[in-house]
Amino acid sequence: MDLSRFPRRRYSDGPTPLEFLPHLTRALGGPEIWIKRDDLLGLSPGGNKTRKLEFLVADALQQGCDTLITCGAVQSNHCRLALSAAVKEGLRCRFVIEERVPGSFREDANGNHFLFRLLGVEDLKVVPAGSDLLAAMAEVAQELAASGRKGYVIPTGGSNALGGLGYVACAQELQQQCFQQQVAFDAIVVASGSSGTHGGLLAAVLGDRMRIEVVGIGISREPQQQVPLVQGETQAVLDLLGAGITVQPEQICCVGGFWQPRYSVPNARMVEAVQLLARTEAILLDPVYTGKAMAGLIGLCRQGRFRRGQRVLFLHTGGAPALFAYTDAVSGRQQLAP
Ligand SMILES: *Cc1c(COP(=O)(O)O)cnc(C)c1O
Repeated sequence: MDLSRFPRRRYSDGPTPLEFLPHLTRALGGPEIWIKRDDLLGLSPGGNKTRKLEFLVADALQQGCDTLITCGAVQSNHCRLALSAAVKEGLRCRFVIEERVPGSFREDANGNHFLFRLLGVEDLKVVPAGSDLLAAMAEVAQELAASGRKGYVIPTGGSNALGGLGYVACAQELQQQCFQQQVAFDAIVVASGSSGTHGGLLAAVLGDRMRIEVVGIGISREPQQQVPLVQGETQAVLDLLGAGITVQPEQICCVGGFWQPRYSVPNARMVEAVQLLARTEAILLDPVYTGKAMAGLIGLCRQGRFRRGQRVLFLHTGGAPALFAYTDAVSGRQQLAP
């Protein structure tokens, strides 16, 4: 599929590393486990939102906008990375922050919240869980317009058709690396949230007929709710690219059971996964997304869903700054649900 007609800014230098994880593989005793280090993408530090923002910010600049407006949770990596891209481009940036867990917004918080302030967010509006975020962002855009400015609204997680192109680009990059490194994977395991990453990858796999299963580990929803979301995103990306393909729900693999008790709230399996990766491979996962996604991969190995003789790729989508907002949980000082 041809991405070359879409304007794109570059925030990273070259492909992210594709590496075998020998110690983790030995510790689990199942399939060969590899990782693609999208946590080493550019910006502050980078993650999956870096790739989406390359297309979204290029569009904002083409439209002559001067301010990025986006939304996210109190520890949003996406907000932090949109702000970082804005800084690099000489744009300003405003957030609508959804307090998904009541009482979780704290002005003195560490992690991404600290970085919002350090990177110089222009304004930040906190709204309660379940608010209409698109409407709240439209309001911010109107305020800017009233003073002669022009805002560019980026939806939750940067997950629209244009943002999803970032993960079509990632899949194409991976395809090249597999060819260069002479390696093939049975499955790619990824955190599935606002679905731009999962949907973008799946659009590329279907559109380019790659033979690899995309397994999304839900970090906020069970498959019943997540599959339609991923289906919508995948279809939007395929349509934007003119692929002429209709994605069916049976082609979407979402795994539940690893995100509970709720989005962003720690559980014991996440802590086990974060500690295991740190102590076997010196790789930092995050408590909200990649820790739970890796817990999913570990769980699928233990269930025999992934077996010895197979090769599985974990896509590291970033997020490590949030570790510093969850030190009590991750260090094992808190009693947690399994
Ligand atoms: C946003 C995010 C995800 C989820 O990606 P989506 O495209 O929203 O599904 C995964 N990992 C990290 C670190 C994130 O910040």
